[in-house]
Amino acid sequence: MRDYDLIIVGAGPAGLSLAARLAQAPLRIALIDKEPRQNLASPSYDGREIALTRASIERLRTLGAGQRLAPDESAPLRRAEVLDGASPYVLPFTDRRGDEPLGALVPNAAIRRILFESVIEQDNCDLFAGQAASIESIDENSAKVRLPDGSQLTGKLIVAADTRFSALRKSQGIGARMVDFGRTMLVCRVRHARPHDGIATEWFDRGQTIAMLPLSGNQSSFVLTLDAHEMAAVRALTDDAFARQVERRTKKRWGDIALASARYYYPLVAVYADRFVAPRFALLGDAAVGMHPVTAHGFNFGLRGAFALGNEILSAQRQSRDIGAPQGLRRYEQGHRRATLPLFAATNAIAKLYSDERPLARLARGAGLRLMNATPGARRLVEASLSGAHA
Ligand SMILES: Cc1cc2nc3c(=O)[nH]c(=O)nc-3n(C[C@H](O)[C@H](O)[C@H](O)COP(=O)(O)OP(=O)(O)OC[C@H]3O[C@@H](n4cnc5c(N)ncnc54)[C@H](O)[C@@H]3O)c2cc1C
Repeated sequence: MRDYDLIIVGAGPAGLSLAARLAQAPLRIALIDKEPRQNLASPSYDGREIALTRASIERLRTLGAGQRLAPDESAPLRRAEVLDGASPYVLPFTDRRGDEPLGALVPNAAIRRILFESVIEQDNCDLFAGQAASIESIDENSAKVRLPDGSQLTGKLIVAADTRFSALRKSQGIGARMVDFGRTMLVCRVRHARPHDGIATEWFDRGQTIAMLPLSGNQSSFVLTLDAHEMAAVRALTDDAFARQVERRTKKRWGDIALASARYYYPLVAVYADRFVAPRFALLGDAAVGMHPVTAHGFNFGLRGAFALGNEILSAQRQSRDIGAPQGLRRYEQGHRRATLPLFAATNAIAKLYSDERPLARLARGAGLRLMNATPGARRLVEASLSGAHA
């Protein structure tokens, strides 16, 4: 039996961010992940290029992680444009003052690596890699976690950052609202002949949603969303046939295309936990809020949550209060719900509207873009959310 203050299950971006937030605190932290240490230290590229808001870029620097990115691992996002089908209408999003990037694109693997490097240098955190944790018991005074080798860890608080299909959440009887979009997202890197000028383009077309996210040089992340049936046909294409198909799907807007990475596939299921906290237990990252990626907020919310929960833990520790006491956990839950629920609902509504091919939905989409452009308040809200000003 080993004794800790805080046990974090899941050393993904969210769990690592919480551990890093508490680097200076006189707390004993156990960080557990089922992946072997080598996979955590050098995560493989998984096709995800994370659009970080300005607030998230700042937070990663505060954690001492942002500084560890190589120059070619971060590409500025200067502007975002939304297109609807064949319509020439473009809805642009820029920085409010027009002079600063909206954010940056960074590979998920790089985010995991830099956070891991920061955490592994901490004196107050023990890593248990290659071990899937389960909850043994939680009572008034402490919480216990069991590892597969039979050993047990005790703490005052367990934080579950163990993916959107969190087994720990389920084990504590916390339900979640799940929205299965029945669609699959393909992500990969492509090289193209024409420059992207730092513009992210999101393109809602008949039966498909496409995004081209600007990376360094003449490279972009190509993101394609289709129903599972159509995606099966795309999976079967050779790399060369796939590149030709990307040219056709993007109407050669970026010129000739060559595939620059493997292709990765993600089934689209959004998840929102019914509660984020229970006695001596809190959910973090996708385990609390698993977003549809179309509005690029999943990790941005996870990082926000790590700071919110971390601040509650820090203030309890400084005032010699119990870090697992309900008051602090409830404040985290209330604040994080307020910050995430409106965008969770709006994102799901957008994803549904833009995958609906009925004539009324198509009409609503065209009208929606124009209405948003004509309503400065609505556009500013989205721009603020893109830069993270709301977080
Ligand atoms: C295609 C795609 C594009 C995206 N784009 C963006 C974007 O542009 N912007 C953005 O902000 N977000 C984006 N996201 C979302 C972002 O990737 C996720 O929100 C983020 O990775 C979630 O981090 P996490 O730490 O909560 O969970 P995960 O990354 O799922 O990590 C969970 C960890 O828990 C471990 N684990 C699970 N169960 C156990 C257990 N029982 N014991 C021990 N360890 C366990 C796993 O091994 C894993 O390491 C995107 C997602 C996808 C799929």
